[in-house]
Amino acid sequence: VAIIEDNGIVLRSLRYRDTSRICTLLTERCGKISVIAKGARDIKSPFGAGLDPLTEGQIVFYLKSNRSLHLLRAAWVTRAYLTALAVPLGYHVATAALEFIQKIVPDEDPNPQLYHSLRAFLETIDSDPVNPRATVWFKMFQIHSASILGYTPQLDMCARCEGEFENYAGFGVAAGGLVCRRCAGAEQILPLATGSLRMLRAVLGREDEPDLNQTNRSIESHDRELVAVIGSFLRYHLSGYKGLKALRCLNEWSEMQKNISNRQSSAPR
Ligand SMILES: [Zn+2]
Repeated sequence: VAIIEDNGIVLRSLRYRDTSRICTLLTERCGKISVIAKGARDIKSPFGAGLDPLTEGQIVFYLKSNRSLHLLRAAWVTRAYLTALAVPLGYHVATAALEFIQKIVPDEDPNPQLYHSLRAFLETIDSDPVNPRATVWFKMFQIHSASILGYTPQLDMCARCEGEFENYAGFGVAAGGLVCRRCAGAEQILPLATGSLRMLRAVLGREDEPDLNQTNRSIESHDRELVAVIGSFLRYHLSGYKGLKALRCLNEWSEMQKNISNRQSSAPR
């Protein structure tokens, strides 16, 4: 048994028996880990708010090799993303990021780059949780994270024949990237304008965290293309990934908002 100190972002926190919690965290140095916090739901819990989702903290735990659940010894909150929590859009997008990482990251595979990317994303959402661009930022975060894990769309040559092209036909979902005009016939192709492609390249070109400001110059048609291309790419290529609960909630909430504003604008004055 080794005693480990690390920084971690709480992805999920489940009740366990009468007084305990089982938490999954993305840590800076150990990767994604699960810990049991005994007595965490006691009034005199030594862990305080350190185990709530959307908090980041320092943790100390006992790492047992050949075990998937480790014993948490202590946790201190260093940052809580509370602004995001208070706004429906920010809340859904931030929890979608936690759910996405929880689903796609393998256990105990150290990846500091991914940790920094998640932290940067949560900071962005927390500082501006009502920005309507949050959903596009989220898509960019998803593709950037997938790319850190080795799922990078091919944007430099034809993803099917590996040939160079002057003009690509579009984004081939199964091929996993841009496809040339010759290969385009056999493939489900999504449109991707050069402006959208530039943004995708800019986000994927960054080593550590995605530069979300790049997407601020985006126009709505670019947003729609990027959301479609990234969503299809992830569903096709990430095994076991079938979309996110938090995003389905967000879509329902957005529909409701639209209905309310339609009703208000059509109401007799
Ligand atoms: Zn080709």
